[in-house]
Amino acid sequence: MKPNPISYLFVFLFFSQISGAQIINDDPEIKKMITEIKAESLENTVKKLVSFGTRHTLSDTKSKTRGIGAAQQWVKSEFDKYALQSSGRLTSVIDYFTIKADGRRIAVDSQLGNVIATLKGTDPTDNRVLIISGHLDSRVSDVMDAKSDAPGANDDGSGVAAMMELAKIMSKRAFPYTILFVAVTGEEQGLYGARHLAELAKKENWNIIAMLNNDMIGNSLSSGTNLRDNTKVRVFSEATPYLETEDEAKMRKLINRDNDSPSRLLARYSKQLLINT
Ligand SMILES: [Zn+2]
Repeated sequence: MKPNPISYLFVFLFFSQISGAQIINDDPEIKKMITEIKAESLENTVKKLVSFGTRHTLSDTKSKTRGIGAAQQWVKSEFDKYALQSSGRLTSVIDYFTIKADGRRIAVDSQLGNVIATLKGTDPTDNRVLIISGHLDSRVSDVMDAKSDAPGANDDGSGVAAMMELAKIMSKRAFPYTILFVAVTGEEQGLYGARHLAELAKKENWNIIAMLNNDMIGNSLSSGTNLRDNTKVRVFSEATPYLETEDEAKMRKLINRDNDSPSRLLARYSKQLLINT
């Protein structure tokens, strides 16, 4: 497989502090990190993920070589390798949780798990959290088929590989805020892993400034068209904030800020930064 540049990047974020005009300068440290991203490394990660046969959410959790359980253990073991170069700041865990049978895409009560690496911020007074994620689970057309091979190289081996590559490169560095690298599960069964992560964040009152979720970044086909373009990043970012208050909605309509949501601001900021870099 010849890896494509990132073509899908879903951006959901809750950014509260962007205001006023900003000049976006190139950042030599970001430039250096980008040079450390290796196509071969991404390809190897995707191939390894495919080698588990299926990563269906309800597939085997006991085997060491096949199924979602083996894939989760492998992602964690990679995180643990990165931890060795992080001066003790990177830790990893498989956050297990139980999902009740839902009569739809979860046939029986099941134990699911998100694989999470936490890169602790260096400033103890800075409680901000940035989340970078991809979904580890895969599936065939029949969403309840947990046995057949479901390689999921594109959906979403590619996004998990990008997330892991960033974890590898960023854990060598220090950031004042905390960064979470997460391989969520249960996406194809109904976004269960992401929901569990969101509930945890709410319960523990995390100060999330942004979440960058990567899904099918190797996909060069625009949805709904036959256009192929493997040179562009596709960013999906929220326009009107989901949690907008009535007053905020009034103000948005008054001053025509439909395209100035925090998510859109971050998307444009990222684009400009990449152009400068
Ligand atoms: Zn996906």
